[in-house]
Amino acid sequence: MTNPLFDTLFAPLSDRHAPLMHLRDGSTITGADFFQMIVLAMAALEELGVVPEDRVAVQVEKSPRALAIYAATVALGAVFLPLNTAYTADEMQYFIENARPRVVICDPRNQAALGVIASRFGAVLQTLDGTGKGAFADLGIGRTCPLIVARDADDVAAILYTSGTTGRSKGAMLSHNNLLSNARALTDLWRFTPADVLLHALPIFHTHGLFVATNVSLLSGGQMIFLPGFDVDDLLNKLPDSTVLMGVPTFYTRLLDDHRFTSDLVARMRLFVSGSAPLLAETHAAFHDRTGHRILERYGMTETNMNTSNPYDGDRRAGTVGFPLPGISLRVIDEGREVAHGEVGGIEVKGPNVFQGYWQMPEKTAEELHPDGWFITGDLGRVDSDGYLHIVGRAKDLVISGGFNIYPIEVEMLLDKAPDVHESAVIGLPHPDFGEAVFAVLVPKKGRRLDVAEVLATLQNRIARFKQPKAAIVVDALPRNTMGKVQKAELRKVYSGWFK
Ligand code: AMP
Repeated sequence: MTNPLFDTLFAPLSDRHAPLMHLRDGSTITGADFFQMIVLAMAALEELGVVPEDRVAVQVEKSPRALAIYAATVALGAVFLPLNTAYTADEMQYFIENARPRVVICDPRNQAALGVIASRFGAVLQTLDGTGKGAFADLGIGRTCPLIVARDADDVAAILYTSGTTGRSKGAMLSHNNLLSNARALTDLWRFTPADVLLHALPIFHTHGLFVATNVSLLSGGQMIFLPGFDVDDLLNKLPDSTVLMGVPTFYTRLLDDHRFTSDLVARMRLFVSGSAPLLAETHAAFHDRTGHRILERYGMTETNMNTSNPYDGDRRAGTVGFPLPGISLRVIDEGREVAHGEVGGIEVKGPNVFQGYWQMPEKTAEELHPDGWFITGDLGRVDSDGYLHIVGRAKDLVISGGFNIYPIEVEMLLDKAPDVHESAVIGLPHPDFGEAVFAVLVPKKGRRLDVAEVLATLQNRIARFKQPKAAIVVDALPRNTMGKVQKAELRKVYSGWFK
């Protein structure tokens, strides 16, 4: 094998004349059409001087052409570097300075701002919009297709920056084998076949949409309904033609909020997958009531791809993320020791999925990746007596009040059960006596009002006093990033002066 990822996922498309992607407007792209897009993008990147190991940074709207740049970059032995479309020019400056890409491809509307930054750091700027038009699309035409560059399984294929909620983003280097081994494990576990039609509404700058969804679909030889983003109407339209949906929890809550979402629409569906943020047990139950399907929740992250999954055949348990994937080991550690079943500790994982380190941050790599291959995920969790992993939260979100540890999820689960509470976020805020004090941010159910004192009173006698919030506030919605994760660092910032 010369280029493991390309040879496995993309090369087989060259003579596939059957549909690969169905687009929002009803048009179809065959495997061979998509392969031609890859060839053109390879020629374009070569024309721009891309050589093996160069970074190709891409901040563009989701489109088949954008996906073809991923494949083309890998084919040239270079490193694909997708960036969230929400990043501002200031944020982009950090990524460009840190990664020093050869090429930056951006949306035409950001051309002026990013052009200055790109040239400052020696990168060539190109444009591409969501319809596939832009300066980049005009390159490569008439050039012969460059050769596929040979790579080793451990060579880096992509750098994905972590979302950086607690500090500067770090570039996770993912090898061909990191990506391929995970795609193989998931394809097998989730029983993907060429008959599958994946409803793809996730962004392709994040591990979930780019690797979990796309790589698994490509590996299985199935088709994708490739939507530019998440839109309830589009999903309702396309669900009857789909067999699998991969989403973040907000996909499911938004679908459930719509009365047009009925079991008839999902007659062809065989699997709904959720991840990237915790799925409320209430959503899991409501979804089952409405559709007869149990959402399969899995757990992963930028640095490791997917680590655990609820079973395909067995019991899919709400509030858990299931078992380690085949070939992946998982342990829960507290004060340097593996804890007993049921006890909370830091989750560590080891396996072919674990990344190669942070781009040009050897100290950060050394802090989080042991030399023997165990990666400290930064998540806290516990494994129950049946072996299911429960995520308790990010270690950095743990609240330590008066010397006691408080796991926010334990308090949030109780608050969420209080009358008229839709959801909640529990955080620790600086407090003159306790160091940190527990604070709750509450969101009422639609059309309902909340009385903070009444909600907090429901916790009396349910949990120890030190875990009960010392104060709470009611807001319309929790701040979330594009993957649906609640931004607790932002909440801590906003309310930091509350107890001072
Ligand atoms: P990212 O690197 O952006 O994919 O974020 C990874 C983080 O998302 C993990 O470290 C977890 O904190 C969180 N996460 C991912 N999947 C789940 C899940 N199913 N339940 C709870 N948290 C999750």
